[in-house]
Amino acid sequence: MNFPVDLKERWGGRRYNSFNHVLKETFHSRVDKLSLRMDFTCPNRDGTVTVGGCIYCNNASHTPRGYHPGMSVKEQIEQGMAALRQRRGATKFIAYFQSYTNTYGPLSKLERLYRAALDVPGVVGLSIATRPDCVADDVLDLIADISRSVYVWLELGLESMHDKTLQWVNRGHGLREFLDAVERSKARGLRLCAHLILGFPYESRGEMLQTPMLLNRLEINGVKLHNLHVIKHTVLEKIYRSGAFTLLSREAYVSLLVDFLERLSPTITIHRLTGETYRELTVAPVWSLNKIATLNAIQKKLDERDSWQGKVYLRRALMESQPTDVASQELMP
Ligand code: SF4
Repeated sequence: MNFPVDLKERWGGRRYNSFNHVLKETFHSRVDKLSLRMDFTCPNRDGTVTVGGCIYCNNASHTPRGYHPGMSVKEQIEQGMAALRQRRGATKFIAYFQSYTNTYGPLSKLERLYRAALDVPGVVGLSIATRPDCVADDVLDLIADISRSVYVWLELGLESMHDKTLQWVNRGHGLREFLDAVERSKARGLRLCAHLILGFPYESRGEMLQTPMLLNRLEINGVKLHNLHVIKHTVLEKIYRSGAFTLLSREAYVSLLVDFLERLSPTITIHRLTGETYRELTVAPVWSLNKIATLNAIQKKLDERDSWQGKVYLRRALMESQPTDVASQELMP
């Protein structure tokens, strides 16, 4: 099966449905995400669900540089904008509520913070990251209300679809909570992005490759992928240093990731293909610090295989005699 021309055109020549391209098509200019850290905590840390948090979590790893406690949304956005304008000439921004659990608080506080971000000139949308067990109906109603007039993504951390892994990493929720959150979010028409980590030590390749099928079936709108990496001052660091498991090499990750993309519906937007954090907080793998090299390796692997997002998915659909007319499917921008 050759790379369908309509997909190639729709994706701006890329072999996958990239979020950057979707943003460009939607806003007709470059749009950058601005990471925010508000004074949230997490029910997986404060004892509401469990204590200690996920074994890989260190929120310092995605706290924006220049952040200091007490900074308002406006101050953080303006600081981030100044840096991005200088570095990339960006003019439009999505305010990304990233650190901790950004739906964990009184409704009035959530509304105040989300709307304060949207009040800053240049902010054209919101991304709200949270846990699937932390999206009560009134929170979803609020986000749905905002999304009627603004571009909004709700990012749900699943990390793995396998409960044995979720238990191992002390997530404090299972697949069931994710399915419930997806159903209630979908009922409100929200754009949903699932966060996933590939390379957990006690998952087989086959188990990891079941995930795209689940996402296709749920008609998730976007996915954010990264390899398991070990960050300083986490429980995972201690386990890793004990020699209990090894991490994927870049080559192994790229091969797995391309297998994953081939099984994923072409309608799903790819928000991220690899993850990295600050050098001073990274324990391993060191290769993840060179994001450009990893993205280049992914592109090379797709070229070598003459492959693209959805190749296996579409072939299976054809074999099952259920023609999937991708060209006629509406992609949610
Ligand atoms: S749910 Fe998120 S913020 Fe909470 S411990 Fe896990 S990774 Fe950290």
